[in-house]
Amino acid sequence: LDYHPTGRHFLQIPGPSPVPDRILRAMSLPTIDHRGPEFAGLGKKVLAGIQQVFQTKHPVVIYPASGTGAWEAALCNVLSPGDAVLMYETGHFAALWIKMAKRLGLEAETIGLPGVEGWRRGVQADMIGERLRQDTQHRIKAVCVVHNETSTGVTSDIQAVRKAIDAAGHPALLLVDSISGLASAEYRHDAWGVDVTISGSQKGLMLPPGISFNALSPRALEASKTARLPKAFWAWDEMVEMNKTGYFPYTPNTNLLYGLAEACDMLLDPAQGGMEAVFARHRRWAEGVRTAVRAWGLEIQCADPSVYSPVLTGVVTPEGVDADKVRQLIWERFDLSLGTGLGKIKGRMFRIGHLGDCNDLTLMAALSGCEMGLKLSGVKLAGSGVQAAMDYFAGHPAQVALLK
Ligand code: PLP
Repeated sequence: LDYHPTGRHFLQIPGPSPVPDRILRAMSLPTIDHRGPEFAGLGKKVLAGIQQVFQTKHPVVIYPASGTGAWEAALCNVLSPGDAVLMYETGHFAALWIKMAKRLGLEAETIGLPGVEGWRRGVQADMIGERLRQDTQHRIKAVCVVHNETSTGVTSDIQAVRKAIDAAGHPALLLVDSISGLASAEYRHDAWGVDVTISGSQKGLMLPPGISFNALSPRALEASKTARLPKAFWAWDEMVEMNKTGYFPYTPNTNLLYGLAEACDMLLDPAQGGMEAVFARHRRWAEGVRTAVRAWGLEIQCADPSVYSPVLTGVVTPEGVDADKVRQLIWERFDLSLGTGLGKIKGRMFRIGHLGDCNDLTLMAALSGCEMGLKLSGVKLAGSGVQAAMDYFAGHPAQVALLK
């Protein structure tokens, strides 16, 4: 007899993340006329809300596209054919962005720690500073970094990158991918001096995939006036102009915007503590999950505790254990989806998401599935991660985490 799972599926990959009922209900309303009088209210509401989530006073452009589209938008709005860009490789997603820059005709220079080691640590801002100091002709037009590297579970220090660029006295723009970081990990577009922040809907914003973002700075907007890479669908100018009235130059993803309005209400709700409380919640959940991994006696993919990700945790399986086989068994037996190892760490690790809409018990369920699956796969565990995480969550009430 075929096995048919009952109850609910546990979607614990690091995006798409589970969509809360409140957002599903908001999105189920009939689509309205995007040129009609009602729409402007929705447009203005989501544009103001998303600015608060990015912590910016400047325009945020919303595209009906996945994160990859917003990556392309960021590059083609501020750069010209043949421009040199310095791109830091923290993992698989950084590597994909570098590949895209090359395809667009940019001279993309990769920087980072060599080999697998570079995929276990954050951006080394001093390496960027040193490279920029050598660039006395200012050929490098932009520095590109991934804030939360989803393939490894490493959250880089963006402020340190800004400081390194400034200390080198270099005019390069700072472009940051916070596709998986935004609305789970601390992020401050204006205060951190970022020129373009890229994000997507299907992670911390708790929405289905399908819309993505570019948060801009005045310098980025200025650069877009003279940048010569071809752009039409992605061009910021008409978007920013029409958005002033709450409308979009082409058909927006109306139902996802209903969802975004609801997500902003949930994230920014002062009664829940707003964005600071969101960051604190994910820091606490991440520590609970890492407590479990340590109790199992397994290694965490991120080798530098100062850049542990509040969004996801990468779990390295012991030598000789195929992490994808463990994942498959967990999916088949317990209806729990975990993230696969990507690129050069495929088969060596799996990823547990703790982004977007979680609570202590959804994470306990995920950890139980992992622990049962690891044991069934013959992995010798040092102890019970489930017990260790229960003790952590019970001993660290969420309210205390909020006050820290
Ligand atoms: N950058 C990061 C850090 C990501 O996590 C992802 C997707 O997981 C992407 C880029 C690509 O975004 P998308 O798959 O929405 O096109």
